[in-house]
Amino acid sequence: MTGRLAIVGLGPGAAELITPLAAEMLADATDLVGYAPYLARVPERAGQRRHASDNREELARARQALDLAASGKSVAVVSSGDPGVFAMASAVFEAIETGKREWRDIEVTMVPGVSAMLTAAARAGAPLGHDFCVLSLSDNLKPWDLVVKRLEAAASGDFIIVLYNPASKARPWQLGEAFRLVARHRAGSTPVIFAHAVSQADERVDITTLADADPAKADMRTLIIIGSSATRLVAGGKGRRFVYTPRHAELVES
Ligand code: SAH
Repeated sequence: MTGRLAIVGLGPGAAELITPLAAEMLADATDLVGYAPYLARVPERAGQRRHASDNREELARARQALDLAASGKSVAVVSSGDPGVFAMASAVFEAIETGKREWRDIEVTMVPGVSAMLTAAARAGAPLGHDFCVLSLSDNLKPWDLVVKRLEAAASGDFIIVLYNPASKARPWQLGEAFRLVARHRAGSTPVIFAHAVSQADERVDITTLADADPAKADMRTLIIIGSSATRLVAGGKGRRFVYTPRHAELVES
């Protein structure tokens, strides 16, 4: 009998940001598949099997999950944030497209999760209140020239820009380049948010400006939001500052 495969988003880290539907799908699974640190976020259940893997083996992990489902198991593949945003779900569909005929009969369910950008935005205020563009700054899976082309388009289009994967040990210079590129189109006073490990124990959210943004302050667990020409700061209670983008926008030449 063919089993089932749920692709489940775990949210940004905190247990209360796992949706009730995701929790239900995780509890119902006979087998959990995913990157070990993400599996560690899922409460243990007797009789449930865990298949932890390395972060770099997305396609292999997808195939393993599909084989388990094809053998009759009820499988949950876990992903951080939302599984469709720079994450596992695409690897599962790619495996189905290129893989065994029997995998097409598996009942696949996508379970959305709270993506890092939504949590980061909520911490800072409402920076995504108007048109925005989301990019992964990683050039592991695409050429750097394509990153530059898309960033240039987003910057000249005056979009708010969200950057996933802004930096890692292997990619130390890309974020500085991105800030320089955007700064050619936008004022130095443009708000920039560095959101590190949102909803986790070592969360840190810093609000700065494009002129002062220090790329060295970002790592693999940071998400960056660069405001549009309309994004602004407003003072809140207890000395807090919020970043927001108004609901209306004007045409600004940049
Ligand atoms: N599917 C995930 C994104 C995976 S790509 C989602 O929807 O959130 C990995 C990148 O996501 C990281 O490099 C970082 O930029 C961002 N990210 C994931 N979790 C985060 C968190 N808790 N805080 C800040 N950024 C996070």
